[in-house]
Amino acid sequence: MKIQVPKGTQDILPGEVEKWHYVEAMMRKVASQYGFQEIRTPLFEHTELFQRGIGMTTDVVEKEMYTFEDKGKRSLTLRPEGTAGAARAFIEHSYAARPQPTKFYYIGPIFRYERPQAGRYRQHHQFGVEVFGSPLPIADAEVIILALDLFSRLGLTELTVKLNNIGCPTCRQSYRQVLIDYLTPRADNLCADCRNRLTRNPLRVLDCKQDGCGAIVANAPSITDHLCQDCRDHFSRVLDYLRAAAVRYEVDPKIVRGLDYYTRTVFEIVYSGLGAQSTVCGGGRYDNLIETVGGPATPGVGFGMGIERLLLTLEKNGCYLPGERGPDLYIAAIGDAALEQAFAAMYGLRQAGVHVVTDLMGRSLKAQLKYADKIGARYVAVLGEAELAAGQVQLKQMQGGEDWVIAWSDLADWLTEKLGLEANKEEVR
Ligand code: ATP
Ligand code: MG
Repeated sequence: MKIQVPKGTQDILPGEVEKWHYVEAMMRKVASQYGFQEIRTPLFEHTELFQRGIGMTTDVVEKEMYTFEDKGKRSLTLRPEGTAGAARAFIEHSYAARPQPTKFYYIGPIFRYERPQAGRYRQHHQFGVEVFGSPLPIADAEVIILALDLFSRLGLTELTVKLNNIGCPTCRQSYRQVLIDYLTPRADNLCADCRNRLTRNPLRVLDCKQDGCGAIVANAPSITDHLCQDCRDHFSRVLDYLRAAAVRYEVDPKIVRGLDYYTRTVFEIVYSGLGAQSTVCGGGRYDNLIETVGGPATPGVGFGMGIERLLLTLEKNGCYLPGERGPDLYIAAIGDAALEQAFAAMYGLRQAGVHVVTDLMGRSLKAQLKYADKIGARYVAVLGEAELAAGQVQLKQMQGGEDWVIAWSDLADWLTEKLGLEANKEEVR
């Protein structure tokens, strides 16, 4: 039997992984410029953390978690999102006792049992940021702007920020009843999932993608009309900050987000050309999460960004993404003595920063040159018996075809200068 990757997962191979390095490096750079520090939490946590943090009646907890019992009979779950683990770490390491805010970011795999399709996988990756400790609207605006800044540095500008305010537990409670009163007489026309949600988690009906439910939801009372004054003020300040930063946004009262921990601001950043899986980034404020999972009352706001969806979006937009890169130098050594000398010299060349490889396959000179071309080497050095005796090396530029003969002892300096010049040229691009 041929063993393949599990459904909904994928290998990231050379040629593709360079794109990941590139976007991840940009994420780290932007996050650190905004004052965020990286946190790495385990890929699995106690199941209870997600049940309490995300909420028992959410799709993620009800249907999408990879939960298993380990040999010690503990119930563990592969993380289905990054915020709950970050919140647990915040509590566990007493971050509340330090000067606030606490600004964490993370990059890594996320696991959800979903129906795989383009842009939707069972293992995907997220870049996420969390600001713990600030209840102020400026923190909401900062995380939204961070995400947009990252997109724009990657060359993406055709994105829309959709925001909503889903209120605090107090005002949401009264809206909840209004919504139930509206939906109950129409329940027969809702999908089976939504009929179930109606009593358990009616706000989730607003988020349903089924056409029948969408039609009912279109005329549903809006949460915007049921917010308390504090929630209203908070939202209008968030919008002020976004306007001040010239951010294009759209207020969309139908955005409620899939996780229970959100309060007040929720947002999604969508790219119109990505089909059904158009949400590249989703986030919001979660003022009760830390308390819900056992910590001191601490507000928070953050987002999670799907890296696979981001890469799809960058590709669709023709944005720059790096590809595979061959070595700077291939040393074609002919004969044992030359190969030994080349082998010893490569150590020094690599220390000097040169990306260099030689023959590990016992190929003929002709086959080595063909191979060097195939892997995209920029220069080839030929070192045979005659060159060895003369203390020289023949150098050939693969693209452009120039040739040189230089002293073997000058090779490292010659190359670093050459490559340095080319590297400078590349920077102008
Ligand atoms: P969706 O509505 O598309 O299911 P979500 O609301 O479940 O998204 P979040 O929990 O907000 O997603 O996760 C943040 C981001 O992670 C999403 O905006 C998306 O870019 C990405 N994402 C979520 N689930 C998946 C998945 N199964 N495969 C790939 N990316 C995903
Ligand atoms: Mg989902």
